[in-house]
Amino acid sequence: MKYYVGIDFGGTGIKVGIIDENGKIVIKDSFVTDPSKNGDEIVKHIAECTQKVMDDSKLPQDDILGIGVGCPGLLNPETGQLKVVVNIPNLNGVYIAKGLTDILGKPAFLDNDVNTMSLGEFYYGAGKGLKHVIALTLGTGVGGGIILNGELYRGASFTAGELGHVSIARDGKYCPCGNSGCLERYVGRDGIIENFMISKNKGVETSIDKYLEDGEVTPKAIAMAAGDGDALSIRVLEETGKILGSVLATLVNALNPQAIIIGGGVSNAGELILGPARIEMMKLAYSIPANDVVLVKAKLGNDAGLVGSASLAVANLK
Ligand SMILES: [Zn+2]
Repeated sequence: MKYYVGIDFGGTGIKVGIIDENGKIVIKDSFVTDPSKNGDEIVKHIAECTQKVMDDSKLPQDDILGIGVGCPGLLNPETGQLKVVVNIPNLNGVYIAKGLTDILGKPAFLDNDVNTMSLGEFYYGAGKGLKHVIALTLGTGVGGGIILNGELYRGASFTAGELGHVSIARDGKYCPCGNSGCLERYVGRDGIIENFMISKNKGVETSIDKYLEDGEVTPKAIAMAAGDGDALSIRVLEETGKILGSVLATLVNALNPQAIIIGGGVSNAGELILGPARIEMMKLAYSIPANDVVLVKAKLGNDAGLVGSASLAVANLK
């Protein structure tokens, strides 16, 4: 059996795990790194934690073939250099892949977390066995990964798949990227909540108060209220799905994928969003590619980051 290490940078900590060649997690652990240390010290700490996980796994070290690192922010997957790591700025500019290889003696690879999650779904999740797959994560941000002919497509500047900033409305809602009308501002977490609140503040009746999370309207609360028949919540998720579906139709026409896989926290609303999205996508896409694509929810759930990161090593070492 072959094994691969995944290192997943999250908002608050770093997860390290090992998967086998079937994508099953053999061992996982998480730890916090001290952001005030300098970049080399942080890489050394990550390497020590990785070595500990490899030791704890009791696997023959030679059967662990490589390491994949998934990180949010700007980076260069070809050189393995981090450019802008929002939570740990001392890692900016650090060649993390080379650093880990030098210390651990195994090939290491770096890519952004949305691309790695897409690879995880492609190898071991909802895209297993397919060749052409697009994965989208809907959360606070909206990101995408494009896999064509079995290979991750990164583009000329490694930004392919930045689907959250596809413009869907001229002079639409302002987006922090500097543009306006970006998809993310409509189908991302905050966009959904804003859409809901506009109607709620106008006095549209809703049972949302029964489902608030810590007193807040969230996509999860809206999904729960919708599941219970709340008309406003159903409408807001339907509108979200329709907007998403119109962009998916464009992707279907442009790239002719076999599957579009939707992950991230917002995707937990499931068919409440995916149902209307599918109808809209089928309606707007050219019929030949539309008949060959499925729109499905991601399968890897909470392990998507870890399995994805390890899948980056799989993709590079296969
Ligand atoms: Zn934007």
